[in-house]
Amino acid sequence: MNRYPDPSGSELKSAIAELHGVGVENVALGNGSNEIIRHLTLAYGGEGRAALMFPPSYQVYSVAAKVAGCDIIEVLRDETFSIGPAEIDRAKAHEPDIAFVCDPNNPTGTALGSIVVGQIADQLEGLVVVDEAYAEFSEGSSVGILSEHSNLAIVRTLSKAYGLAGLRVGYLISSTEIVRAVESVQLPYHLNMVSMAASTAALKSQSEYAEIIGNLIDERSRVIESLDKISGISTIPTQSNFVMFRMNQDAGDVYRELLKHEVLVRPYPDEPLFSKCLRVTVGTPPENKAFIGALEKVLAAF
Ligand code: PMP
Repeated sequence: MNRYPDPSGSELKSAIAELHGVGVENVALGNGSNEIIRHLTLAYGGEGRAALMFPPSYQVYSVAAKVAGCDIIEVLRDETFSIGPAEIDRAKAHEPDIAFVCDPNNPTGTALGSIVVGQIADQLEGLVVVDEAYAEFSEGSSVGILSEHSNLAIVRTLSKAYGLAGLRVGYLISSTEIVRAVESVQLPYHLNMVSMAASTAALKSQSEYAEIIGNLIDERSRVIESLDKISGISTIPTQSNFVMFRMNQDAGDVYRELLKHEVLVRPYPDEPLFSKCLRVTVGTPPENKAFIGALEKVLAAF
């Protein structure tokens, strides 16, 4: 480790390219997918340029776009947290230079799928970034439609399905032009050799991960089933590794009571739409049981 790492990250890029059936020239690496998001805003945003988000969604898009000096445009998702023709028309009217689409969406877990993503990319002239941080838990991906849309860029991470958040590795799959634009704003050696070696090994262990992800998806169904049985609770359809649910109670109150039972869930105090919603990450079977048991007790006491 007295040497600098491979600046091109060629081994890791090859593993990613092989996994997704694309060329190594279609892959850019990031120190986490957050860094890819920042680099996209640096390459495609800037003063006087417009960055569009579809809230409620992942907050880092607007943080990165603001740092890059972009004007921020928000087009709300519809009542099912989807993006339909009306939202696409509204987005188009703003002529964004860069638009962020989280699919499946954080924090709702809802998925759009590649047909809707394709419609967005068709209608918008600027760059359309599809953040697929949770795609491994979903039924699809938009990687397959990349060749049909020259303005499409897909962002992935090893932080979620691979459980490797501490390594800080994310990646971009896109056209060679977009890959080159992102790489033009990157610092040399932004990825260390330990993270690259470990990520390459993980990506080559697909069958092990398929089993882990399959188990998590089964467990997610059990959590949804248990939540739906609790009176007053409704779940939002999810294709992610978390479930957002609505209650009749104030989310902050329930969150604090759950903490007393050593159960940590995620409230969204700054998002009025979610004042009665909490997001729970699917855990191990004992953790999920403990969560459901604690939630039943807490809600019964209100
Ligand atoms: N995108 C989404 C939708 C996320 O939820 C997260 C992590 N919370 C990220 C990107 C960033 O992940 P990382 O930087 O660890 O790859």
